[in-house]
Amino acid sequence: MPECRYRTWVEISRSRLVANYRAICDLVGPQVTVMPVVKADAYRHGAVEVSRTLEQAGARWFAVSSVEEGVALRQAGIRARILVMADFLPFEREALLEFDLTPVIHRLEDLAAWERMAERYGRQLSFHLKLDTGMGRLGIREPAEAIIAALKRCPSLDFEGLMTHFASAAHYDTPQTEQQLARFKAVAEQLAAVGFRPRYQHLAATVPIAYGRKETWGNMVRPGQAIYGYISPVRGPAPAPLLKVEPVLTWKATVLDVKELPAGSPVGYGAMYWTTRPTRLGILTVGYGDGYPHRLSNRGRVIAAGRIVPVLGAVSMDLTAVDLTHAPEVRPGDAVTLLGREGRVSVDAHWIAKASGTISYNVLCSISSRVSRVYVD
Ligand SMILES: *Cc1c(COP(=O)(O)O)cnc(C)c1O
Repeated sequence: MPECRYRTWVEISRSRLVANYRAICDLVGPQVTVMPVVKADAYRHGAVEVSRTLEQAGARWFAVSSVEEGVALRQAGIRARILVMADFLPFEREALLEFDLTPVIHRLEDLAAWERMAERYGRQLSFHLKLDTGMGRLGIREPAEAIIAALKRCPSLDFEGLMTHFASAAHYDTPQTEQQLARFKAVAEQLAAVGFRPRYQHLAATVPIAYGRKETWGNMVRPGQAIYGYISPVRGPAPAPLLKVEPVLTWKATVLDVKELPAGSPVGYGAMYWTTRPTRLGILTVGYGDGYPHRLSNRGRVIAAGRIVPVLGAVSMDLTAVDLTHAPEVRPGDAVTLLGREGRVSVDAHWIAKASGTISYNVLCSISSRVSRVYVD
């Protein structure tokens, strides 16, 4: 086993990242622009390195949530277009301009303010407009007539994209996605009828891409989790997924100590676990301070020497105990896999999410900055 150089770290495979991106490009075809979503530090895979890698692989657009995330990519030298999806505050408008970030506009008043910016700086500024077609979060709910009237007052702006976001794309047992799509199309048609035809129309995140809901693809798609190798489970009568991707991230920790405990010994905070037989206890360099969920107390599983072993007792802030009785060859200094694959066994973010009562996105996004990142081929 290679020597560990970090207490706990993630290994991120560049080749898998690129393979996932290419698989999405191949599925949607050359008419559809793939805009990888690298918000939340690329779901904790590292937005700068992920964007660099995908830019080299041909990505021409990235989506982030905030102006700050966009600025960080620019400062790292990313030259592709960057769409800021989760709105911005008035004080961030200057930075949008300075760092050449493309905003999504969610209110007609903000459209007018963006027009005033364009006039003040004598530049044509582009934007994407988001419709709230039924998600009930960000986006414009006004009728098409009001949107048209507002657009007509913006001669200095380039209306580059029209978008929406689905609330229940993974729920094939409700008609919400069809309803949202119908609403989107109706508004898009009314805008087109008076000459507002943005270059891009985009609605789909991972699930409608992966499950082949082609009518939602428009000519741009916004995959997040699929880029990182995950596709959320769906419910209801869904077709078979068309997309095959593989997890990009492997999370490891090191065994600090190994000790023998007799039967009837308590383990960890609150004595949440008592040994029922002589137990070979391993203490790992990871805890909830690293983002390893506290909810995995007495429930988690890690891979040690190619075998699944259980977490014993409470996950503490910096340390976690596991049962190494059936992995006798594991010694202090060895690495174990918290999330990932060793040979034929794997623990993935879906499994951890289920065991800890959350969603896979949350598992990935919780990996803290204390966890070192290593990029591998
Ligand atoms: C996060 C996000 C995405 C990507 O979602 P995935 O399910 O991870 O593919 C796409 N569009 C918007 C608006 C988002 O907020």
